[in-house]
Amino acid sequence: MLAVVPPPVTVRVPSKINLHLAVGDLRDDGYHELATVFHALSLTDEVTVATSDDPGVEVYGEGEGVVPTGANNLAWRAVQALAAHVGRPEPKIRVALRKGIPVAGGMAGGSADAAATLVGLAALWRLEIGRDELAGIAAKLGSDVPFALYGGTALGTGRGERLVQVLSRHPFHWVLALDQKGLSTPSVFRELDRLREAGDPPRIGSHTPVVEALASGDPRQLALLLGNDLQAAAVSLRPGLRRTLRAGVDAGALAGTVSGSGPTCAFLCDGAQSAVEVAASLAGAGVCRTVRVAHGPVPGARVVGGEESP
Ligand code: ATP
Repeated sequence: MLAVVPPPVTVRVPSKINLHLAVGDLRDDGYHELATVFHALSLTDEVTVATSDDPGVEVYGEGEGVVPTGANNLAWRAVQALAAHVGRPEPKIRVALRKGIPVAGGMAGGSADAAATLVGLAALWRLEIGRDELAGIAAKLGSDVPFALYGGTALGTGRGERLVQVLSRHPFHWVLALDQKGLSTPSVFRELDRLREAGDPPRIGSHTPVVEALASGDPRQLALLLGNDLQAAAVSLRPGLRRTLRAGVDAGALAGTVSGSGPTCAFLCDGAQSAVEVAASLAGAGVCRTVRVAHGPVPGARVVGGEESP
């Protein structure tokens, strides 16, 4: 009998920035308690999963030739996790990543690929599995993976994996400054611990005003409230970021912040047209590798142009 091979499934998945990232003290398990407001942006990766006799991962675009294609790739770990969950050992799956999200850029690109792979594989295998069940698997792969499934704007607590959606009425417009080289997330947390031992750098306050500004939809109000406890550590490891942050505001942005553990800087703009102008001006300032314009919030991982994902 002829085996029917299902057609490949492609999933688009957003990047994230943190509008607010409060880092608590180091916990006994080595993680920090976080309170963060995630915001999903239209800078995306596209992930295609297909049945194949040559299982593995291939990477194109951002991180091509750098991102591991073996068992360490988060997308491959997602294949294995879902396969184990549904009792399909040795999955014959090939995953192609078309990456627009910068690697080690503080925008959760690897987590996005893992989330997209879960959604894509669930569709390819026609699994009866809801997004909440996928989120349980996602949380074991990494603290940023569940958010990439849901997208939107959400408050994350714990390690960032406990999510509550936040009302965000209007689109916000952003310019992203991508750096030449990534920063490793663990090294940025270690640097924050070191700075806190050496002195007591100021900590950002509660997330409540940010949540209120999001509900109002006023970018000027939100601009005053962007905050990230990891920013001082990222700047300490990459002092040039100070110049990048200043250049974005000089170019006309309302405010700038380091995204997550950096080094990508996100600049909030007064509208879509303003974002295009800020991007053009920032691109000419010579402070970053490249710039991107994006808006948020956008939905989480979704099958492109086909059947509905779970
Ligand atoms: P976060 O914001 O969640 O801390 P990040 O955006 O700073 O993450 P990633 O792009 O997710 O960082 O990559 C971190 C490291 O993970 C990379 O240096 C890379 O070697 C490894 N990695 C594994 N799988 C992937 C993937 N699919 N895409 C990108 N990096 C991956």
